[in-house]
Amino acid sequence: MSDKVVTRFAPSPTGYLHIGGARTALFNWLYAKHTGGTMLLRIEDTDRERSTEAATAAILDGLTWLGLSWDGEAVSQFERAPRHREVAEELVRLGKAYYSYETPAELEAMREAARAKGLPPRYNGQWRERDPSEASPGLKGAIRIKAPTEGETVVHDRVQGEVRFPNKDLDDFIILRSDGNPTYMHAVVVDDHDMGVTHIIRGDDHLTNAARQTVIYNAMGWDVPSMSHIPLIHGADGAKLSKRHGALGVEAYRSMGYLPEALLNYLARLGWSHGDDEVMSIKDMIGWFDIGDVNKGAARFDFAKLEALNGVHTRKMDDHALFDIFVATLPYLEGGPALAARLDDQKKAQLLAALPGLKERAKTLVELVDGAGFLFAERPLPVDEKAAALLSGEARAVLRGAHATLTAVSGDWTAATAEAAIRDFAQAGGHKLGAVAQPLRAALTGRSTSPGVFDVLAVLGREESLARIADQID
Ligand code: GLU
Repeated sequence: MSDKVVTRFAPSPTGYLHIGGARTALFNWLYAKHTGGTMLLRIEDTDRERSTEAATAAILDGLTWLGLSWDGEAVSQFERAPRHREVAEELVRLGKAYYSYETPAELEAMREAARAKGLPPRYNGQWRERDPSEASPGLKGAIRIKAPTEGETVVHDRVQGEVRFPNKDLDDFIILRSDGNPTYMHAVVVDDHDMGVTHIIRGDDHLTNAARQTVIYNAMGWDVPSMSHIPLIHGADGAKLSKRHGALGVEAYRSMGYLPEALLNYLARLGWSHGDDEVMSIKDMIGWFDIGDVNKGAARFDFAKLEALNGVHTRKMDDHALFDIFVATLPYLEGGPALAARLDDQKKAQLLAALPGLKERAKTLVELVDGAGFLFAERPLPVDEKAAALLSGEARAVLRGAHATLTAVSGDWTAATAEAAIRDFAQAGGHKLGAVAQPLRAALTGRSTSPGVFDVLAVLGREESLARIADQID
């Protein structure tokens, strides 16, 4: 066996990829990338009633959007059932597991009896030594593992530390049901072993499973992978994460206009830190991440922080990269499809040119759609209330002068030539620059805020700019 790190993300396809699952995937991915290893993907679709193709598709789509790539083909756990059966039978042959033949009613009676004595409802191990020939004919047995009865099972967890489980609390749990289907507990161990997984990183709701799974590893004589159980995400108020707190599928975050890189940065910082660094690129995270540095305490999800961080990433991002993500995300954004429908080559060029100014004012891509609206607006522009206030009375006279001045600009139409003309006009007329710029902005964009007005003039071009201004003075 080489020392190459192999991690895995093992979602159950019973719903979309939720934000907690995305963080688990991220930690597996970061650790694999940091160590030069690989991350595998296993779809835990053994629960046939609750698993759906649509959920699997949503999980793959969410991971892809986030850029959390996996190595090789995704593995279906269900398809590996024959192998799970084979290992369970092997354990019987090795004397580490046995067939048990209780009916559901007998099992219930056993639990009742334990409860009556004030004991936890555990299986009593009655078929450990009995011969299967004693079973009533026709009864199909379930395979149970012989769990150790004394001492303790220790999970050496890189996040939780050494966690000890008294073996008297473990009973002989089922690894293969009487219908021949493996239990979840068993399937995970066989799959992780066969897939060569060296590091298990998952939510701390699986910590007690780790003890039971250790029993199976030991029975097969297999190495137990390194374990890291990461704390779950809680809401800002400390309560378990609910929809209101942000327990949504990652596609909801895409629709809200968050950048994958910002969302990953935010999720990485939930429970992990690197000094005082708040803003991290993917490269930074890969370089800095170590699973051993993840905190034990529950992390709290805070929308305001995510939004602020998204604003920072938006402003920092290279314009072409931001443009590409923006265009690719348009179909999912509020107001985006209408904009996408009008995105011809000219509009694309205008959008790219306006992006440096637009991104200064947008914390999300949804805000970017809103900010870019003026580029796509049809004349005569709808003017919002605040902009209308900027266009009243004297402002119209100023605008008339500005229009004449701009009409006279000869040669190149650029932000610099427009600015020079407007400055001259303001100075000659004794106007403050703002008294000219504000009505201009209102006429050009229909809004009271926008990127710098000279940039707006440049992006819209001579003809469209003059026409929009003229619309407001006639
Ligand atoms: N399928 C399990 C889940 O979605 C994860 C199992 C594991 O990581 O071992 O919670």
